[in-house]
Amino acid sequence: MKQKPITLFNTLGKQKNLLEPIKTGYVGIYHCGPTVYWTQHIGNMRSVVISDLLVRTLHISGYKTTLVRNYTDVGHLTGDNIGDADQGEDRMTKAVQREQSTPDEIAQKYIDVFQKDITTLNTLPANHTPRATDHISGMITLTQQLLDTGYAYATDYAIYFSVEKFPEYTKLSGQKLELQKQGLGHGDVADTNKKHPQDFSLWFFKAGAHANALQTWESPFSSSLVKNGEGFPGWHIECSAMSKHFLGTTFDIHMGGIEHIPIHHTNEIAQSACANQVPHTEYAHIWMHNEHLVTDNKKMSKSEGTAYTIQDIIDRGFNPLSLRYFFLQAHYQSKQNFTWEALQASETSLQKLYTTAKTLYKQIPWYKRLFMKPHAQYAHDFVSFLGDNIDTPQSLALVWNMIKDDSLSPSEKYATLIYTDQVLGLHIHQHITAKEKSVPIPKEILELVEKREQARANKDWKESDRLRDEIQNKGYEIKDTSDGQQIHKK
Ligand SMILES: [Zn+2]
Repeated sequence: MKQKPITLFNTLGKQKNLLEPIKTGYVGIYHCGPTVYWTQHIGNMRSVVISDLLVRTLHISGYKTTLVRNYTDVGHLTGDNIGDADQGEDRMTKAVQREQSTPDEIAQKYIDVFQKDITTLNTLPANHTPRATDHISGMITLTQQLLDTGYAYATDYAIYFSVEKFPEYTKLSGQKLELQKQGLGHGDVADTNKKHPQDFSLWFFKAGAHANALQTWESPFSSSLVKNGEGFPGWHIECSAMSKHFLGTTFDIHMGGIEHIPIHHTNEIAQSACANQVPHTEYAHIWMHNEHLVTDNKKMSKSEGTAYTIQDIIDRGFNPLSLRYFFLQAHYQSKQNFTWEALQASETSLQKLYTTAKTLYKQIPWYKRLFMKPHAQYAHDFVSFLGDNIDTPQSLALVWNMIKDDSLSPSEKYATLIYTDQVLGLHIHQHITAKEKSVPIPKEILELVEKREQARANKDWKESDRLRDEIQNKGYEIKDTSDGQQIHKK
């Protein structure tokens, strides 16, 4: 199959670029994954769904993909995103204190939650999901290369990348280095031997502010304060090492949230271009950045209770795919405002889509269902909209226009819907065939079901009936079958 053209907005150069894969028909993508010391909020989920929409767009356009999404399970310090990491606290250390657990257990716990959440949103699994702690040797190698070629230098506290050695340092952000300097906080006073406030750490020695670091490794680097170069990698070098391991020194697309532009991705380009001796435009050809999700028009905040998670969505009785539908309505380069009312509106639209699909499906004689074909023009336009910088609002609007188009037969409409669902990922066909299974039940309801199970075991029929009423009042239907209680949303 010949691949259809795809243009993507490239932050590096600030214009739309035609995707020209290094290997014809094959696209390598690196997506900066989560730091795994906490449950990810729905803003992070937006970023994952957007990467999924890119992958699915590539597939429907005839490309094969390799998606790498890492887990940062070491080295992410508070202040990293404002370039103030040297003095920052280790986020994993904070989690260890909070949960009285080991770093490894904490990482595994939140990796599991993340995997479950992104599966609930029907995102295709990444091909590789490396943990940073499994790639320390790659980070050490890159750091050594940067030392050997003079791009990096050592103090007793850390190995730093020297930003003044790399003239293209500000190409991605477009900011002036001097301005970035003014934006810095107090971290730059920590190490008096640091040459430039913007220099960032490739390796932290287990000394000074990090003398009590919990996750450390030996290294070939030397500091008079530690034995055997003991320390841990900086956050940015992790992605440079893992992307190189899985995708090589040059690959097609690098993705992440816009907060990564001025520091994390800027630093990744500097390290990778210099260590691998490739031009700054060659590390990743296209840099895609998604805008943020805000709640009630404000930055999501854990302390204000607005950093909602997938579990919050489920506990309020929503189908998590309504959140996926919600994300489809905004372009990935636009800020999107989350409110519960907006999610309710998305759920209503999704429900309408399911009902429409069901009605259409019923109108198609069973013997025709095997031979349905999508409508050529609508299918073509759908892929074209997506191929134009992943325009999901336009492609979603096209689906609704197609449904209203009386010139199409029910079987054409249904087949086109299923075709578009390859990218939309709303489980349209599965929903028709297995509705109950596709909607997770909130914890509160499951607890009532469990109580009722207990009441039935005790032959307390009065309590059992009372609980049935309570469950029904909360919008769920319960049936007693030979396999036990079965429950689904009304
Ligand atoms: Zn990264």
